[in-house]
Amino acid sequence: MLEVNDLHVTVEGNEILKGLSLTINPGEVHAIMGPNGSGKSTLSAVIAGKEEYEVTQGTITYEGRDVLEMDIEERARAGLLLGFQYPVEIPGVKNIYLLKAALNAQREAQGLGEIPAPEFMKLIKEKIASMQMDASFLQRAVNEGFSGGEKKRNEILQMLVLQPKLAMLDEIDSGLDIDAMRVVASGVNSLRNDERAILLVTHYQRLLDYVVPDQVHVLIDGRIVRSGDAELARELEANGYEGIEESAA
Ligand code: ADP
Ligand code: MG
Ligand code: MG
Repeated sequence: MLEVNDLHVTVEGNEILKGLSLTINPGEVHAIMGPNGSGKSTLSAVIAGKEEYEVTQGTITYEGRDVLEMDIEERARAGLLLGFQYPVEIPGVKNIYLLKAALNAQREAQGLGEIPAPEFMKLIKEKIASMQMDASFLQRAVNEGFSGGEKKRNEILQMLVLQPKLAMLDEIDSGLDIDAMRVVASGVNSLRNDERAILLVTHYQRLLDYVVPDQVHVLIDGRIVRSGDAELARELEANGYEGIEESAA
């Protein structure tokens, strides 16, 4: 589904990703872990198509298409979607309108018409209940006055409504108490199926007790220095990144 090959990325003249390769197949959940500043957010932002990053070398292919030729909107419509690390506020725009507009843009790209209002309401009510969110959320401006936990739930709600083929979630667990994390994790798990892939960027192992990844990659200084299964995350939790850094060096 996604193939990243020898990716080098520069931000404001500094090389952040230094030859990163990664293959994600449909149905797989991959976790990217690593110390602060290692380039985790940069990786997901570059795949999603954020503009401030310069790809100086390497390729990204998604379903056989050259991702680097697609803008961020095209990528989202093709099912390649990044949640917000620190979700932005959009003053005055109600959550429900943003969700509907995003869903309709995606349907249009698939040659479908606008979703009929009753169908949309049914969908949204079901998803909002599964995230244990109050329906009043829908009428509030996007993320305005939301707590950290509410923003994270809202981010997963967007994913549940838009059903991307490749969902990328950056630090979806940061700042959540254990109950909120369980709700968020069960939302992520409900996204899992044979056709969808998920890329989870996370600093801590805790989330991975609830969303068990197929593969874990350790990113240090712009390179994947180790890959393994869920056991690798537990090893990191026990030993930290230091041991890994030494063995990589
Ligand atoms: P992580 O998510 O692993 O903590 P990031 O990808 O956010 O790491 O950042 C990697 C490095 O790139 C850091 O040194 C950070 O300061 C730098 N960086 C990231 N984004 C920008 C930016 N927009 N402008 C300047 N430097 C950036
Ligand atoms: Mg190289
Ligand atoms: Mg980050």
